[in-house]
Amino acid sequence: MAKRDYYEILGVSQGADDKEIKKAYRKLAMKYHPDRNPDDEDAEARFKEASEAYEVLSDPEKKAAYDQFGHAGVDGSAGGGGGFGGGGASFSDIFGDVFGDIFGGGRGRSGRGADLRYTLELDLEDAVRGKNVKIEIPSASECQSCDGSGAEPGTRPETCGTCRGMGQVRMQQGFFSVQQTCPNCRGAGQIVKNPCKACRGEGFVEEEKTLSVKVPPGVDTGDRIRLSGEGEPGMHGAAPGDLYVQIAVKEHPIFDRDGRNLHCDVPISITDAALGGELEVPTLDGRVKLKIPAETQSGKLFRLRGKGVTPVRGGSPGDLLCRVMVETPVNLTKKQKELLREFDETLQEDSDGKQHGPRKSSWFEGVKNFFEDMKF
Ligand SMILES: [Zn+2]
Ligand SMILES: [Zn+2]
Repeated sequence: MAKRDYYEILGVSQGADDKEIKKAYRKLAMKYHPDRNPDDEDAEARFKEASEAYEVLSDPEKKAAYDQFGHAGVDGSAGGGGGFGGGGASFSDIFGDVFGDIFGGGRGRSGRGADLRYTLELDLEDAVRGKNVKIEIPSASECQSCDGSGAEPGTRPETCGTCRGMGQVRMQQGFFSVQQTCPNCRGAGQIVKNPCKACRGEGFVEEEKTLSVKVPPGVDTGDRIRLSGEGEPGMHGAAPGDLYVQIAVKEHPIFDRDGRNLHCDVPISITDAALGGELEVPTLDGRVKLKIPAETQSGKLFRLRGKGVTPVRGGSPGDLLCRVMVETPVNLTKKQKELLREFDETLQEDSDGKQHGPRKSSWFEGVKNFFEDMKF
């Protein structure tokens, strides 16, 4: 398959400066990063493509070679050796200033293991009160059977004959002699003839690691808890990365949370709304009584002070805002319908001149004025 033009991949013009190129790449990488698109091969391919384009166009020398000779000028240098698979280093480099505390740590500490992210879903109650949660995360550990070599015990990986262990080969491409990742060993320099059965030649085995996470009270969606050193292991004895537990609070059947305040809708009958009454409303600490004054209109908000959430960063608890919704009665019997009509007539017949529908009368007044103003 012919390679796409790097400028086209990033969607920038040939005259684009460093900033534009970086911005364009960042946008694509945000969209297609494997962390955000698990098991999506198309996204992964796009991410690799964009990373490759960025690696070339962000390097003045490679960019110049590419501008002059096209892909032939840079093939073998871009993607050689390390490849773009994980995107670890370039990802933390480019996102250091975006994600700050998540990926920023990767910069300048070469060999340090990658930071990992785990999304922890919580019920609203647990988020508000805090909870100790056990999470299971996949982790890789060195295969005991082959000591990480990937070769079946008793055998050894052999030096690759194609590249003589270099991992790179020189190839003639048109007029150019270019260096490429060895296609035989894919850059490893070694060939495992008898792969270890325990790890299928990978050199490591996947395990589930159980971690205990202390969720403090008051957390909300978007809050992160850092577990130091629980990320990926570092290379060559370097420090491991961190694990970031990202909180996602599930939707609650009754309450909507807005920062420190909680909102809920409370249905009330026409009678309670008209005559006043006492309602039982739910809070996170159980039921409380709410007095409804006579002539309460639908949509009115009642504030229960201190019945909201105490934020994780401290401060006073928020409020619970109950919005009363006057319910239209349904499934009426013949008798009930008659009573309602009778009742309605008493409203019409009233000779005391009082308005019984405050919103309705002001609405009609508004409509009348609207038509008068139009002056046909
Ligand atoms: Zn093994
Ligand atoms: Zn090789």
